[in-house]
Amino acid sequence: MYRTKRKIKKGPIIAAILIVVIGVGGFFAFKEIRYRMSNTYKLLKIGYNETETNILIEKYDKEKLKELIQDKTLDSNIPKLLQQKYYLEKNLDRYLTYLKDNPEVSVKDAVSLVNVNRDRDFYEDMQETDTSKGDLMLVNKYYKLTKDFKLDDIVPISNQFAYEDNEIRKHVYERYRSMWNAAKEEGLLLIVNSSYRDYETQDAVWKDYAEANGEEWADNKAARAGSSEHETGLALDIVTNNVIMNEFENTEEFKWLQDNAYKYGFILRYPKGKENITGYEYESWHYRYVGEEVAKEIHDLDITFDEYYAYYLDK
Ligand SMILES: [Zn+2]
Repeated sequence: MYRTKRKIKKGPIIAAILIVVIGVGGFFAFKEIRYRMSNTYKLLKIGYNETETNILIEKYDKEKLKELIQDKTLDSNIPKLLQQKYYLEKNLDRYLTYLKDNPEVSVKDAVSLVNVNRDRDFYEDMQETDTSKGDLMLVNKYYKLTKDFKLDDIVPISNQFAYEDNEIRKHVYERYRSMWNAAKEEGLLLIVNSSYRDYETQDAVWKDYAEANGEEWADNKAARAGSSEHETGLALDIVTNNVIMNEFENTEEFKWLQDNAYKYGFILRYPKGKENITGYEYESWHYRYVGEEVAKEIHDLDITFDEYYAYYLDK
């Protein structure tokens, strides 16, 4: 028998194995290095959980994310804020400060409150409101009309629809009459109790209060000149027969307005439970004209005009 003993050369095999090992190892090492350089890894390392990390990567501004990683900032309010419906990036620092100063406030409420400037004092650093927004101009304790604001379409409201001496802008009057007629068909009676007031009148009202009982008391009773919605000619105080304002919420007329006012372009401007946001006590009688489209949106979204303005109009 003749057997050949094939000599196996080990050298090339070892070399091949080495190449494979180095190759595979290198591949994983490369992957690992790349992972360690990723934002995901860095965020997890800082202490964010997986969900928070994904939100930050998906929704946070790129520059701000870079900063956060550099500073190793761990603040779980940031991913929570990014998920809020009405989150506005320009307000981020103010949200965070507000939450720090008011730990009992929820993230959702902080967004609402800061968006409408409630982290600032009333009547301080008042801004002139943008009257070019027309029916959507915002007048409150942060945005005011100036003394020069004049309207040339103010008309008297007939005694059929209002108490004596009421005036309002013409197009608002037309919409109010349509609403009045619709209510009447249901056997209900709407009466305008108060309506347009010019700057001088508002000034006189507030000053009378302030002289009688001091500024703080006056601020609770009336808006300062330039800050009352009644000066826009877009607001109506509506009541019904023999009912004083505070009792209006118990009437059928009020219930009807809750369901129907928006169809005519009016919204309840200072709702119950939203005092913190509007800066006003609940007023079941105060209606503001914003036009049908926006009134419907505000009605459907169930938010205040202040919030709507901050998120949808002030851009
Ligand atoms: Zn009013």
